[in-house]
Amino acid sequence: MFNAGEFFEAHEELELAWREEAGEIRDLYRGILQVAVTYLHITRGNYDGAVKVYGRSLKWVQGWSNVCRGIHVKQLCEDAETVMKEVERLGRDRIGEFDAAFFKPIQWNETRLWICDRCGSEMYEKNCKVTCPNCGNRFDCSDLNLYFD
Ligand SMILES: [Zn+2]
Repeated sequence: MFNAGEFFEAHEELELAWREEAGEIRDLYRGILQVAVTYLHITRGNYDGAVKVYGRSLKWVQGWSNVCRGIHVKQLCEDAETVMKEVERLGRDRIGEFDAAFFKPIQWNETRLWICDRCGSEMYEKNCKVTCPNCGNRFDCSDLNLYFD
């Protein structure tokens, strides 16, 4: 939904995910949720709302591995920063001229299926560790960008 530009719907779904998740990953969901709300404010010409919610989101989207649970978090942060630079350049009076092309999709591994590069077995992921049950091959979340090339 986020990637389709449906920021309101994305916000609603992420809120459900956030409520259902007890682990610390819920903070990442909240961060992405707030980026979605930031973008929603921008599409509605709400400069102050965008600046405020973006400021809040930083606490939740920063400090993760570059890639966490298959989500390219660092890229998302950089994209949101670029969006906000453009919003600030336009300013409160010209936010209506914002070009939606600045909204970049979140890059993520949707299937979350990892195949071991040593033995070809299906690997499983838990708390940002990806492990091969067959040979013990192991990756940390931050190394997963290997799989996106
Ligand atoms: Zn293996």
